[in-house]
Amino acid sequence: MERRALLAAGLAAPALLSGVAGEAIAQPPAPVQPDANQAPGYYRFRVGPHLMTMVYDGQAIRPDPTQGFVRNATPEQVASSMRAQGMDPSRLLNPFTIPVLRTPQATVMFDTGNGPQTAADSRIGQLPANLAAAGIDPASVDIVVFTHFHGDHIGGLLDGSGGAAFPRARIVVPEKEWAFWMDEGQASRAPEAMRPAFANVRRRFAPYEARIERVGDGAEILPGLRAMDTPGHTPGHTSYHLSDGSAQLMICGDLTSRPEFNLTNPGWHVIFDTDPVMAEATRRRVFDRAAADRIRCVGYHWPFPANGYVVKDGSGYRLAPADWSSVL
Ligand SMILES: [Zn+2]
Repeated sequence: MERRALLAAGLAAPALLSGVAGEAIAQPPAPVQPDANQAPGYYRFRVGPHLMTMVYDGQAIRPDPTQGFVRNATPEQVASSMRAQGMDPSRLLNPFTIPVLRTPQATVMFDTGNGPQTAADSRIGQLPANLAAAGIDPASVDIVVFTHFHGDHIGGLLDGSGGAAFPRARIVVPEKEWAFWMDEGQASRAPEAMRPAFANVRRRFAPYEARIERVGDGAEILPGLRAMDTPGHTPGHTSYHLSDGSAQLMICGDLTSRPEFNLTNPGWHVIFDTDPVMAEATRRRVFDRAAADRIRCVGYHWPFPANGYVVKDGSGYRLAPADWSSVL
């Protein structure tokens, strides 16, 4: 083949072009289809008659998770566990996926993602675009339910102009979580680094003041959908259990960080857990049950589509990720 034909066929790599003096100059290969986009970030499955849509908000990158991210493991232990699971220990990808449930009674969203971002190249804040791709209008959301009030879960309450992103939704919050973050004493005693988080909670919920409903352990949000007190990650962290006959689902929230961290190593105390000892006890209690009863689970920081079955594996657990299915 002529060199031109090879180039046209994309077979001449790396491309060596002749310089003016005839010497070869290496050119980096041009990316194939540089304007290509990923497929829209949503994934569906059914729980009994209910339809669950997992909607992707993007992922953050944490550099060097071997340093200070896990309180009770050495950098060597973290790096070796990550390597054993095929991960690059120099960075941690932290994904965010928001479950949206359609039941015969209502459309319910669990947490709201990071919210609108100003940087054009941001890797997070993709929830609105992916909701649109999934055909879910924020104005059609009847209830927004919260697992807890960290910024990556409440950011999406506000739209880009600072107004309510969900114009007609009831807002359901765990009463213990609300009590903690809204307590002026807690806010004023909080270490300097925590103060912005308290201010953020007040700002995000402000436009919804008249429609906030506080619920406790066991509260029924809708027929078959109940709150489960799962404290530790935050004081009022709450998961949700959906059941319809034999179909069951647990919306876990932040019972774990990535599965490779806190399912593989349920005893690892990650810095975001407010009470790591309680978080570990809660994690083991819930995942022992999910594994024994084979309850499908969704996890907010699990790799997209962030759901599957948790199985016991040695002294920890492993996520058996859900299959893609074109049949609902
Ligand atoms: Zn989180």
